[in-house]
Amino acid sequence: MLDRLDLKEEDFDDVVIDEKEFKDLRAETKWLAVARLYTSREDFSNTAFYTSMRYAWNPAQEVSFRALNDNLFVIQARCLGDWKKIVEMGPWLFRGYGVIIKEYDGIQDPEKVVLDSIEVWIQIHKVPDLYRKEHLVRLMASKVGVVKKIIMLTAKDFVRVRVNLKVDTPLKRFTSLNIQGQGRVVFQLKYEKIPTFCDVCGLMGHVDEECGSGEHSP
Ligand SMILES: [Zn+2]
Repeated sequence: MLDRLDLKEEDFDDVVIDEKEFKDLRAETKWLAVARLYTSREDFSNTAFYTSMRYAWNPAQEVSFRALNDNLFVIQARCLGDWKKIVEMGPWLFRGYGVIIKEYDGIQDPEKVVLDSIEVWIQIHKVPDLYRKEHLVRLMASKVGVVKKIIMLTAKDFVRVRVNLKVDTPLKRFTSLNIQGQGRVVFQLKYEKIPTFCDVCGLMGHVDEECGSGEHSP
């Protein structure tokens, strides 16, 4: 639209912000995030969403929400601790659906922030000692999502990996190694606190009875 106005330099009458004020603005506009609920549902109450998220985050200081459209929110925390929890310690769920949250600089168009993935902990079960090596676990987990963190030692017989999952990709049920001359070994995957997903297509955001016609063979 601005292009079509064919503006010339002399048309402008800017409000000028000097470098110091710009610095001050940046300093006071911190700890922002953009969020979207990953759901096929079109209607949900913003107020219920805010209340539920505040309850889940249990923030030390006030957290504010601003709705940009039906399902896009700018969130602002007042301290680093709250912000880190919100952005890094998900997945956060609302009515079972995943809340996609990404950090936001307060400058770019919030609608342009790419909200296409969710970070979760996965468990890779019963990996025998021979293959229980961090580099192999990393390779296996990278078939599931972008690996963020690996915890090799847990109290149970699995390793935990924090991965960034693309929400438009079906969830994987297993990961496998193929050892040349030995054959394939398959390991079961479990997801911690995974949002609602569909048993038929493996995508998050809807359930099997909402997938296609909703009629599927048992
Ligand atoms: Zn489905």
